[in-house]
Amino acid sequence: MGNNNLKVFRAEILHFLDDPAAQEENKSYQYFPDGILIVKNGHVETVGHFKELGQTLPADQKVVHYPDSLILPGFVDCHVHYPQTEMVAAYGEQLLEWLENYTFPTERKFSDPDKAAGIAEIFLDELLRNGTTTALTIPTVHTESVNAFFKAAEARRMRMICGKVLMDRNAPDYLLDTPESGYQESKQLIEQWHGKGRLRYALTPRFAPTSSNEQLAKAGQLLREHPDIYMHTHLAENLAEIKWVEKLFPQCSGYLDVYNHFGLLGKRSIFAHCIHLNNEEFELLHKTESKIAFCPTSNLFLGSGLFNLSRAEAQKVTVGLATDIGAGTSFSLLQTIHEAYKIQQLRGDQLSPLKSFYLATLGGARTLDLDSKIGNFEQGKEADFIVLDYKSTPLSALRSQSCTQLIDKLFALAILGDDRAIKATYVLGESAYLR
Ligand SMILES: [Zn+2]
Repeated sequence: MGNNNLKVFRAEILHFLDDPAAQEENKSYQYFPDGILIVKNGHVETVGHFKELGQTLPADQKVVHYPDSLILPGFVDCHVHYPQTEMVAAYGEQLLEWLENYTFPTERKFSDPDKAAGIAEIFLDELLRNGTTTALTIPTVHTESVNAFFKAAEARRMRMICGKVLMDRNAPDYLLDTPESGYQESKQLIEQWHGKGRLRYALTPRFAPTSSNEQLAKAGQLLREHPDIYMHTHLAENLAEIKWVEKLFPQCSGYLDVYNHFGLLGKRSIFAHCIHLNNEEFELLHKTESKIAFCPTSNLFLGSGLFNLSRAEAQKVTVGLATDIGAGTSFSLLQTIHEAYKIQQLRGDQLSPLKSFYLATLGGARTLDLDSKIGNFEQGKEADFIVLDYKSTPLSALRSQSCTQLIDKLFALAILGDDRAIKATYVLGESAYLR
């Protein structure tokens, strides 16, 4: 075989093999101070030290060299609303008022396929500029919003998960479906998009208050009929929200019990937020292998609360990081790590640099049940990766001079870094963004 389908990249390289908190930390990752990543036909061929692997390359092999830079697997955003891109940074409310005053009027526009297509492109550009190559995203109730998103993601060959929002009550009429129309439209979209290239479908009841018992029952039915799709929703974000759920579903013992009652828990079920959960609820998430998307910038912005990461860890619930744009305030997973760190500080806990970069890469891939395909540089994985610049601003350049250890470098990247720290983003080994 000729070498023209080989692509070779040289830089510092880091990737994770496991959760640094779950075993001996130094066995959880591989770090190559002068590393080389070899990509063949869009997939990882091998990763290692330049000194060793460089010698095995054909003499005329081109090597793309990024000095003062770190190659990582692409970031994974486990919960984000693409239609809210244009309403990020809306002032002054907590969850329920924020939905009513800002979110619902914005989402109304997505019945227009051209509007949806335009924002989908801007959203995907923004992800790539921030080093995010995979996201679990929420569109709107309109099928047009789902089709526009999947079309845009397909054209870029990005690995994306999305699915029509189900909501049949407690929202303006213009955003409501019915149990039957939600069921039929979801079914049709699953057939059209689930498993097409790198795309996957997520059944998406917005959250318990905006779906009737009938609609949640239909959602459970869809999940039984399509056991390999995802389920994606919100859970226990805000105290007023939880009280409302208790009133709406008096037959259930709590918020998570509503979703459980309708058969919505499982290995590919992802619940955003999970701030106000009790031990039994964490245990139920663990037992059903359900996953959590931790949304630090959103939780601080809406004043929702401080997610208990150490409890999730202790009760063995898989967690990924998420921006939750537009309640979140940044598309950057670096900024997301930054705020996650502060939230754990306020709880009296620590979030280590290694653990946080694990969460943004392999941890996210595990949360989305995609770790056989993405998340690290094991042979055969899809070659979605990013190049981070240690010196993207004068201040980060200054700070990096006194960073001698990997963990110092990672920590400074997360605390000082943002979109400017992303020098390049690659999708399936091909350049998708260059700063
Ligand atoms: Zn959300």
